[in-house]
Amino acid sequence: MIKFAITTLGCKVNQCEEKQISALFTNAGFVQAGLKDAADIYIINSCAITREAENKARQIASSIKRRFPECLIALAGCYATRLGCEKIKYIDLYIKQSDKDKILDICLRALTEKGSVPSFLPAEPSGCANHAAGPHRGFSSRTRAQLKIQDGCKSFCSYCIVPYIRNIEYSMPPENIIGEIERLSKEGYSEIVLTGIHIGKYSTLDIYSNPFGFEQLLKMIDLYPFTREFRIRLSSIDPAELSESIILLIKNSPRFVPHFHVALQSGSERILNLMKRAYSRTEFIEKIGLIKKNIELAAITSDVIVGFPSETPEDFEDTYKLLDELEFYDFHIFQYSDRPGTRAYSMEDKIGAAEKKERSAKLHELKHKKNRMYYNKNSGREAFVIAEKIISTTPSGRAVLSGHTERYIEAFFEGTPDMIAKIVRIKLIAPSESNDGMNAVLI
Ligand code: SF4
Repeated sequence: MIKFAITTLGCKVNQCEEKQISALFTNAGFVQAGLKDAADIYIINSCAITREAENKARQIASSIKRRFPECLIALAGCYATRLGCEKIKYIDLYIKQSDKDKILDICLRALTEKGSVPSFLPAEPSGCANHAAGPHRGFSSRTRAQLKIQDGCKSFCSYCIVPYIRNIEYSMPPENIIGEIERLSKEGYSEIVLTGIHIGKYSTLDIYSNPFGFEQLLKMIDLYPFTREFRIRLSSIDPAELSESIILLIKNSPRFVPHFHVALQSGSERILNLMKRAYSRTEFIEKIGLIKKNIELAAITSDVIVGFPSETPEDFEDTYKLLDELEFYDFHIFQYSDRPGTRAYSMEDKIGAAEKKERSAKLHELKHKKNRMYYNKNSGREAFVIAEKIISTTPSGRAVLSGHTERYIEAFFEGTPDMIAKIVRIKLIAPSESNDGMNAVLI
């Protein structure tokens, strides 16, 4: 019995690919072990977006090797690609992003050479971990599935390493997407998240060889007569690619949830220019205004970077004010991290760690305030939640469940275990005192 273990760092796309890799290995007859258990091979599905993500991969490798010195460790994905020919301690195999589709064969060969696998043939032909259909067999809970519809980016934002690593653009053909959604919904998933590195750049050809873009894809998903009901969430969209017609489509379709993750990165026009983002501060404000105008209480979330080279207190203030004034529900805060090879890496006037930390702390406080404001606006409103897990039991023996609503609010409510993975109608009562989320009751 050959055992493998896998861990993933980084984005949703990487998480999607972990499921695909796990399915490849288990279909080939491997048995999956936890990261803390003994295994023949450990795969670190890595990320290179920040220095911290790379440090984490090295720490994981060192901790595994100390416990299981005989094992093989494979570093796969973005960090392995960024390293190029460079080698790091404890890593036996390097699998670049572009070679992820060969990961099973590469690992098998190494295990065979080591003598762990005398003569090992995959039970099924090894598929492609980058773009394979049928990648979701490995999902453990059947509530929310990520469907990778797009890969690659050529936008070259000045701080971002991704275009140097995932530079082959891929868009899954529309008929495959329909097939995947149908299959996932039949498997019991009630929510499917359309994921990619840059999904607004989704672009392919239809059966008549005409251009077929992101908006057409959304329209097709909206109209297709799927067998089972489910809901669709978009993972993230760039402001420049968000049109009023997409907003209206989401508003009018019962399938799409009213949640928009629109990356801001900076509220300063000067910094946006240096970042080489494809939109201006004014355009960003306009797009958020369009969402607000068309959809009542849409959940608007974002990403923001603090401490980009030369970011002055005034630039930061522009970001702070914009986040404060617009109708945000939530945002993720990242401290700028220098990535060798990017344009920002060679920029002067780097911001010190203490300053970045302070700006980040200010935004965390603001984020907390915005979360509470959004919860309060939702108090007393109906919502549909997908029950994800039982978090406790009341003294009278009732299950307390949690799950996310269509507006991505985590809701806590009393119910029954058979509700798990189902869409349940609730009324949001008030922000929870003990958890990040809202208390609710069934209706
Ligand atoms: S759009 Fe910009 S930030 Fe996003 S992956 Fe592409 S280069 Fe990176």
